[in-house]
Amino acid sequence: MKYIGAHVSAAGGVDQAVERAVAIGANAFALFTKNQRQWRAKPLDEAVVTAFRDVCRRHGFGPGQILPHDSYLINLGHPEAEGLAKSRAAFLDEMQRCEQLGIDRLNFHPGSHLRKISESDCLARIAESLNQVLAETDGVTAVLENTAGQGSNLGWRFEQLAEIIEQVEDKSRVGVCIDTCHAFAAGYDLRTREATVAMLDEFDAVVGIEYLKGMHLNDAKSELGSRVDRHHSLGQGNIGSDCFSALMQDPRTDDMPLVLETIEPAIWAEEIVWLRTQQEAA
Ligand SMILES: [Zn+2]
Ligand SMILES: [Zn+2]
Repeated sequence: MKYIGAHVSAAGGVDQAVERAVAIGANAFALFTKNQRQWRAKPLDEAVVTAFRDVCRRHGFGPGQILPHDSYLINLGHPEAEGLAKSRAAFLDEMQRCEQLGIDRLNFHPGSHLRKISESDCLARIAESLNQVLAETDGVTAVLENTAGQGSNLGWRFEQLAEIIEQVEDKSRVGVCIDTCHAFAAGYDLRTREATVAMLDEFDAVVGIEYLKGMHLNDAKSELGSRVDRHHSLGQGNIGSDCFSALMQDPRTDDMPLVLETIEPAIWAEEIVWLRTQQEAA
């Protein structure tokens, strides 16, 4: 089964995100469970948690169809003690929010060395952050998102993701979300069907396809290998539509959230319909 949706707004409460997903014909969605630009957030209201669980049940959204995104402030590989502690506490809070909401996975950007520690030290810190947070939570998988490799952000090469996973103790609760725009900007060519299949083959060889827990479907304004993160609507950027068509026909993307983070929410419904059509074309 293909679960396709978009990163919808949770304004007015997380239950509202579900209604927005339904309105665009999605059977998957992403959301922020708190304001993504602030460190502190008040705990989720019991009534909102109940409303979220009810509306998910009513519309048939199971846990594997929902991929929340954590706050942009969190850096689990932070080179300094204070920033690291703050990030770990905030990530634990985000994981606990998922537990409360009955969501089984949380997407996050691995972390940045800020040019103060080595790449391998930073990757080890990220793994240690995961070990600490996974020990304090239950039932939620931490899903590393590959990055475009802007600035000192790590996780743009599959090898870096593999190096983190290798150091995580509970491998049953760590996974990866591949963002197509980020992969392309990081140097993975996706401009043809063959290149797209080859990217997944490479992911399987380097990381292991069993770790794939979701995808972000974005075309790119940025160039191949530019290390610049600029999303575009499907078929309108430098990746082009063949990539997304190929992904819809690849069984390796079955049964996981496939989430649009494309730049025009007004055409998400159309993009979802187009993706489903590609699936049927198989
Ligand atoms: Zn992201
Ligand atoms: Zn993304």
